[in-house]
Amino acid sequence: MGFQVRCEICGRPIQGSPHRILVDTATLLVCSRCARYGVPVSQRPKPKLTVPTAPLPRKADRDKLPEIVPDYDSKIRKAREEMGLTQEVLAKYVGEKVSVIKRIEMGKLKPTIELAKKLEKVLKVTLLSDVASDVGVSVKERKVEVLLGDVVVIKDKGRKEEA
Ligand SMILES: [Zn+2]
Repeated sequence: MGFQVRCEICGRPIQGSPHRILVDTATLLVCSRCARYGVPVSQRPKPKLTVPTAPLPRKADRDKLPEIVPDYDSKIRKAREEMGLTQEVLAKYVGEKVSVIKRIEMGKLKPTIELAKKLEKVLKVTLLSDVASDVGVSVKERKVEVLLGDVVVIKDKGRKEEA
């Protein structure tokens, strides 16, 4: 009987046997008075019950984060010219200032992922090199599909990118 166990909540020496309780994710040894602040561990063998599931999707998002292709400037300019759009019109389509479009086409400004997605939809080009290979359909293929007026393909594309 050398040392006395102290309650990890109130700090009082514990009379009798200590209670092992779970407070959030921590297991504490407490006295009978403080036992009510937590869940008795014996009832909850897994101390993981409050661990949020958030870290998992967050990691997946980071892994899937697409990157802007290096030749985004020429791709955008070419596609825009082929569609007969002016920079002003394209800017309106994607809700950006003309100056932004100009700088992007000059390669001076890298579009954000969000803007790149909008540009992809308007211009039907691939601006994001995604890790997921299903987005990596070649530009040529996609253009053919669009020329054929395949609306379903476009819709599918949008859904995939929003997911
Ligand atoms: Zn206590």
